[in-house]
Amino acid sequence: MKLQNSPIQKIIFRDKTFFIKRDDLLDINFSGNKARKLYFFLKNDFPNIKKVISYGSNQSNAMYSISLLAKIKGWEFIYFVNHIPSYLKENPIGNYKYALLNGMKITEDKEKVEKLKENSLSFPKDTLFIPEGGHFREAEEGIKLLANEINSWAEENSIDNLKIFLPSGRGTTALYLQKHSNFLIYTTPCVGDNNYLKKEFFELEEKKYHPIILKPLKKYHFGKLYKEFFNIWKELKRETDIEFDLLYDPLGWITLLKYYQELKEKNSTILYIHQGGVLGNESMVNRYLYKYQL
Ligand SMILES: *Cc1c(COP(=O)(O)O)cnc(C)c1O
Repeated sequence: MKLQNSPIQKIIFRDKTFFIKRDDLLDINFSGNKARKLYFFLKNDFPNIKKVISYGSNQSNAMYSISLLAKIKGWEFIYFVNHIPSYLKENPIGNYKYALLNGMKITEDKEKVEKLKENSLSFPKDTLFIPEGGHFREAEEGIKLLANEINSWAEENSIDNLKIFLPSGRGTTALYLQKHSNFLIYTTPCVGDNNYLKKEFFELEEKKYHPIILKPLKKYHFGKLYKEFFNIWKELKRETDIEFDLLYDPLGWITLLKYYQELKEKNSTILYIHQGGVLGNESMVNRYLYKYQL
């Protein structure tokens, strides 16, 4: 598994040119920003660790990637969620299904999730705790490699006016990218609002490393279904032949297009980072088809 040097591809979308960093193609199994975040654990040996604990949503991309890491390392993987709907238990799909196939042990336990969120628990020496979405300092090493790959690409192609855009969840990827990039990073919050994202940045790094936040023009709730999200996702697939993720990328593209003229000032080159997550589309597409009776 090389987990390095994902390709960069030029596309045209709505008559505009973008470059796409295809981190979804990093590796057949291990892709996207979760692979970057877990790189440190994948690359190094941890002879004392026997168990990994995490928590989050029952269709999380991080959950799936951790299940893969645990399988490769021979660790036990225990994952806590608030709730698993009975239809999902009966018909496993998407990240949930594949994480279970990798041996994940999943437990519904609201109280435990609350405690893990507060980060107030301590763990025995043989246990690795990974906060929701991989928002932790260990993520820096892999994301630094991503920044270096982009720095080298820009240099080789004599691009000095590059602007990099990616949608954020907890903001870990955008933050460490900005810390190690030669260029400005632009992002938009998909999970909370601007203040939530700033708070997440401050949890890990001081202000000088913070990316520029572009405020979405409308308020959206994370994980909810919006027809304009599904439409732009389909349009992207049709026009560029690339499958993007359905949770973050639709809002990412809608926001990037809104601010396009501003970013294009001085004829900048725009690079969009595809952060993977396509495995999760299986369940999202089903939800969209059902909701809109398509
Ligand atoms: C996890 C994830 C994000 C958000 O990453 P953060 O580092 O938390 O901002 C964005 N896109 C995809 C596809 C993801 O899996």
